[in-house]
Amino acid sequence: MKSTPLTRREMLGLLAVTAAGSASLSLMSCESKPKLVASAAGLPLHYGESQTGIAVPTGSEKHTLFGHPESRARTDAILKTLQERQADGSLPRLHRLEERIATTEELSRVHSNEYILRVRNATQAGTYLSDSRWAPYGGPFAFSAAASAAGSALALLHAIDRGRIRNGFSLSRPPGHHAGRDHSAGYCIFNNVAVAVRSLLETKQRRIAIVDFDVHHGDGIQDCFYHDANVLYISTHQDDWPFTGKLEMTGEGPGRGKNINIPLPLHTGDDGLLQANEQVVLPALRRFKPEMIVVAAGFDGHWRDPQGSFELSISGLTKISQRLNEVAKELCDGKIAYVLEGGYQLEVLGCAAANIFSLLNPGVTANSKFPDPFGRSTSPIANVTETIRKVRKIHKL
Ligand SMILES: [Zn+2]
Repeated sequence: MKSTPLTRREMLGLLAVTAAGSASLSLMSCESKPKLVASAAGLPLHYGESQTGIAVPTGSEKHTLFGHPESRARTDAILKTLQERQADGSLPRLHRLEERIATTEELSRVHSNEYILRVRNATQAGTYLSDSRWAPYGGPFAFSAAASAAGSALALLHAIDRGRIRNGFSLSRPPGHHAGRDHSAGYCIFNNVAVAVRSLLETKQRRIAIVDFDVHHGDGIQDCFYHDANVLYISTHQDDWPFTGKLEMTGEGPGRGKNINIPLPLHTGDDGLLQANEQVVLPALRRFKPEMIVVAAGFDGHWRDPQGSFELSISGLTKISQRLNEVAKELCDGKIAYVLEGGYQLEVLGCAAANIFSLLNPGVTANSKFPDPFGRSTSPIANVTETIRKVRKIHKL
């Protein structure tokens, strides 16, 4: 979210790209005669030998509002880029997971039954889900879209947990990390990451780390696991909307010390975020020793994104992901799951997300190169050293 309105130029650009993205989706390509199974939406499912999974919530496709930043064009942009990279041979086959719709029981581990019912009713009424300026829109497909987004995250985490794949990315939308027990917020209806993690914890006790690099604080994820000793939540975010995520919020009871907020200034830039990653995120992960890392992957920190002011580049976001993948190999046999959160500049979103799919390929080395057609921001960059020092002190890192 952004605390200032879009400029007319930004909105016109958004509309143009949204229209182009919606029109250009076509089927994902695949290497050497894959087994094809038709899905309800007419897309093929590719069951390959890849250790990298992709979860696509086709149940979200009809939930879209032309001109709204959170539209179907977002996942279309990612799929289009993946298709292009598979066509030119730069991206290997992905294991497309069978779709899941989150059940009411699964949703109710995070959300109240009253709220789930309210979403159903708002869906029928076709209204916005609250009076908030940043509320998600309703409409006839809102409930099924949100249940599909959460179901995709569920499918991915369970597939990794069972060893069917090593890692992967769920293209969940609408996003989830602001959704709370009783409310929607920031385009989020159901908390996809929280629903999926809670589901894993339901069957067996595990240590799961959630790293949230969306430009906004994931207040819904924080609240869900604030008292939980089995889940470490770490968020790097712009110290701005939704005005949560203060560094003093460290968890309570059994969860004390398991909530690490790194509130960074506007214009943090690549170097500042990498500094936070190296000096706080990675040491905290090594101390916690997770059995799986789940990444709330938001790309709205990019300097071209209309919803943030973090001044990141695609190269910076790619480097952060590369370091997280490396620490996942070091700590938990490479088990890492990316779940889409924000990211509203469609060209940036497509490229940055596709870079993560490439990174998850076992053939990638530290010297591998990844596309970044937009380069770095030319804006002045803030100093983050003092903030990082405070976070390290509070968490004894
Ligand atoms: Zn965001």
